[in-house]
Amino acid sequence: MNREDYIAREERYGAHNYHPLPVVLQRGKGIFVWDTDGRKYYDFLSAYSAVNQGHCHHRIVGAVCEQASRLALTSRAFYNDVLGEWEEFVTRFFGYDKVLPMNTGAEADETALKLCRKWAYMKKGVPEGEAKIIVCDGNFHGRTITIVSMSTDPDAFGGYGPFTPGFVKIRYNDLAELESALNDPTVAGFLVEPIQGEAGVYVPDEGYLRRAYELCRKHNVLFMADEVQTGIGRTGRMLACDHEDVRPDILILGKALGGGVVPISAVLADDDIMLCIKPGEHGSTFGGNPVACRASVAALEVVRDEGLVENAERLGHVFRERMRGIRSDMIELVRGKGLLNAVVVRPRNGKEAWDVCLAMRDRGVLAKPTHGHIIRFAPPLIISEEELLDACRIIEDSIRSFD
Ligand code: PLP
Repeated sequence: MNREDYIAREERYGAHNYHPLPVVLQRGKGIFVWDTDGRKYYDFLSAYSAVNQGHCHHRIVGAVCEQASRLALTSRAFYNDVLGEWEEFVTRFFGYDKVLPMNTGAEADETALKLCRKWAYMKKGVPEGEAKIIVCDGNFHGRTITIVSMSTDPDAFGGYGPFTPGFVKIRYNDLAELESALNDPTVAGFLVEPIQGEAGVYVPDEGYLRRAYELCRKHNVLFMADEVQTGIGRTGRMLACDHEDVRPDILILGKALGGGVVPISAVLADDDIMLCIKPGEHGSTFGGNPVACRASVAALEVVRDEGLVENAERLGHVFRERMRGIRSDMIELVRGKGLLNAVVVRPRNGKEAWDVCLAMRDRGVLAKPTHGHIIRFAPPLIISEEELLDACRIIEDSIRSFD
């Protein structure tokens, strides 16, 4: 089969809910992936930041294979000898009393919303059925009905109503709007991405998260950070909230928590909040399964042992400086933190971000536009400076090919 055959088969038998770049991948190792014709590419998407540790990291794959051949799934109907080890490891790693495992980012966000509402009724005294949660314009928290009910992107919510009530939408990075929304005593929580990844890597003003957290404190409202994309070293800190010394009341993790090998997501909180959910009130058959737990411990150890947080911080500066140095009309703006970056593309002679991504693909770098005119660049955090600069040269050549 050639590339077109693979693509035609997916088109024929798969739902059309994605619009992939035309490249068919077969193998991955570290920062590279190879297509079905054996061509090698730098992966500058990292599966939307799920592959922070690099493709098929031997420690993570080793842990998964070993566990899968011993005990893969018990459900939570019984105890097993792995879950508790992961729970202890993860809560110590991030500094919380308790953790609740799920599988995907969306499920972790749903869990956080349920936990927040429960807390509001049990602890804050909000009348039953009236709790509100503040969310931000441009948010992306996943694809479930409740999550798209929070969305302001018509592609995400259009045609999926009726929607879940109980959300108050405010502008991102606007403390005045937050402060006025917080004046309502039925507000239970504020759900925020420390950097809006899917929206196009929007970095809020310095001090925004800190001040937002303090305002939530003042109003007895839970500050919930969705670090599904920004967490696990991506932005040059273990958590993006660490840039401003903010410890969220509810921390939401996913993606790279499983090292890009097995899906696992998690919600972390202290006892006062987490113990509001009682046995039988929430769960998931696969949530916290032994294979995912072993993958997750290995994934976090790799981030710690290989200094990936420091690497992301240092190379992020190198990347942005290099991109800002490219003289091209097509580059409108470069922004980001650590190795979560975006280049905003100004269309030229009818060519736009998609065409730039095709040109990069032809030269050996894979990235994907978001919202038409923004290209996100997020390589695995194990990339070296030499490799990063080589990829930057390819990116520059690709952009300049439209001059
Ligand atoms: N939250 C954020 C901030 C995300 O970026 C994403 C996915 O891109 C999600 C949640 C949803 O994660 P998942 O696709 O695993 O459900």
